[in-house]
Amino acid sequence: MTENKRSDIIVKGIPASAGISIGPVFLYYQHTLEPELQPITGESVEAEIQKFQKAIEESREYLYKIHQETDQRYGRDFAEIVQVQISILDDTIFLNEVEQLIRKQLYNAEYATFKVFQHKKEHFLRLQDEYFRERALDIQNLKRLILKNLLGKKAEIDLKIKSIVVSDNINPAEIIKLHHQDILGFCTDVGGKNSHTAIVARSLGVPAVVGTEYITNIVQEEDYLILDGNEGIIIINPTPDKIKEYTEKQKKLIIFEKHVFKNAEKPALTRDGRRIQVMGNVEFLEELELLKKSGAEGIGLYRTEGIFLSGSEIPQEDVQTACYLRFAEALKPQEVIIRTLDIGGDKILPELSATPEGNPFLGWRAIRFCLDHKEIFIPQIKAILRANKYHNIKLLLPMISSLEEIRQFKVVFQSAQEILKSEEKEFNPRMDIGIMVEIPSAALMIESYIDEVDFFSIGTNDLVQYTLAVDRANEKISHLYNHFHPALLKLIRKVIEAGRHHKKMVSMCGEMAADPVAVPLLIGMGLENLSAAHYVVPEIKNVIRNIALSDCIRLYEKVRGLSTASEVQQQCQQFYSEIFTYPNHLILDN
Ligand code: PEP
Ligand code: MG
Repeated sequence: MTENKRSDIIVKGIPASAGISIGPVFLYYQHTLEPELQPITGESVEAEIQKFQKAIEESREYLYKIHQETDQRYGRDFAEIVQVQISILDDTIFLNEVEQLIRKQLYNAEYATFKVFQHKKEHFLRLQDEYFRERALDIQNLKRLILKNLLGKKAEIDLKIKSIVVSDNINPAEIIKLHHQDILGFCTDVGGKNSHTAIVARSLGVPAVVGTEYITNIVQEEDYLILDGNEGIIIINPTPDKIKEYTEKQKKLIIFEKHVFKNAEKPALTRDGRRIQVMGNVEFLEELELLKKSGAEGIGLYRTEGIFLSGSEIPQEDVQTACYLRFAEALKPQEVIIRTLDIGGDKILPELSATPEGNPFLGWRAIRFCLDHKEIFIPQIKAILRANKYHNIKLLLPMISSLEEIRQFKVVFQSAQEILKSEEKEFNPRMDIGIMVEIPSAALMIESYIDEVDFFSIGTNDLVQYTLAVDRANEKISHLYNHFHPALLKLIRKVIEAGRHHKKMVSMCGEMAADPVAVPLLIGMGLENLSAAHYVVPEIKNVIRNIALSDCIRLYEKVRGLSTASEVQQQCQQFYSEIFTYPNHLILDN
């Protein structure tokens, strides 16, 4: 394969966070791929060889699978790279060398693999011929693949220069750390658009493409990339013309963003006069300035996981109080809705995760975890109470699935207040309590929660995954994850009607509220409070200013009897396209 062939290769994935980045690669695997020598005993030789053979089998299967799919999905160049890797893996001399090191030197399988592949790679790199130098990079990729199947130790990530991180998987905590290291963007093999990793990337403004499935197998350390988080594509080793084209696109995006922010402060009033409140979602202190500029009317969702995931320790009550107070002070007299810790699922606190769970999204997450960890829950509630100096904080509980959980919370809430009194710490006992409606049981039982809480916030990110049984972070089924599904609309409507009937506020803070195509439908369904990430708030307000409530109601009437997500989506898309020609709708609003 010539140098030429490895340029301008396009890999497609799921657009997860908007923006374009151009830069060198930093390859990162979640597990460290530099094994140590751990000599084995003579009796464990056969077991060690079996372990190695199993890893080879897994690697081979993986490569065959990619090969079959890549030809159709990404074209011949990509498939050829994979084919070369398969033939190296089929080379028995190569594999025998590893087995000999295990047998004769009593090396552990990981170390023997590392030794043989490293030696071969260095040998090829020393050869002058371009063909062999290319093979060295294939051997490097294979080494990683086999070691990944053998090892399980967590890796550390340390960006030396501004880079685009290419990884098998990145969790939200890692993105937060990388953000502090000037990451340009990232792409991963796995992941979905509404995974917490993607949401965190959007909050921090880090361009991202997820769910590429095979990017780590095709990108090499020396590569240079263009990552387009709007379209969900990565271009490996782009030509100078491509770099020029994307640099231009980058500039246009910046101008576009400036335009969006121009009218941000204007209220969100439909053409026929219905006032819609558009609040902001936040997770990090860094977002505060941008949120204020976005025209958000308060904070509809403050995800507190950010402070827990940013450091290496659980934040102390005082640290939390100071942080919540910063938001409350900056936003007053507007409201700040603080959600208690929603850890678990795809947001893992390494200090607290005992054994991995089989189904983390159905497991020990959010309120379930907090009710079992009062030593974490009580200080957080105390901090929220203490931070309410300006009487503009409300408390929101995540992942409520039963009435008992609300009642158990109230007992804990009471204890937190008792402790504060005994510590003679100042706090305001009056605070509105709301719940996230993000589990179908909560939506279906909404009437029985009415007297227990003060407000509801619909979390469509989880409501979609739990209603449709579609993991929000799994790229393989991302086509099934759709917030236009009629089942979801029925649940949403039920919650809106209950709120209206009993005069309790219902808002929506899931990503559906940030989808400009879905917003007219939501307003037609009777929703009057939305909360979306700061970068999308101006756009959502602008959409609202260009539609009429009466048309939105007609849209809802049209779709309410439809039976499939695609029919609903198509109607909403048509409605949207008749009013806005993307991205010109922003220019309409002057
Ligand atoms: C949701 O589930 O819609 C939501 C807003 O919460 P999160 O994305 O943090 O789970
Ligand atoms: Mg949720």
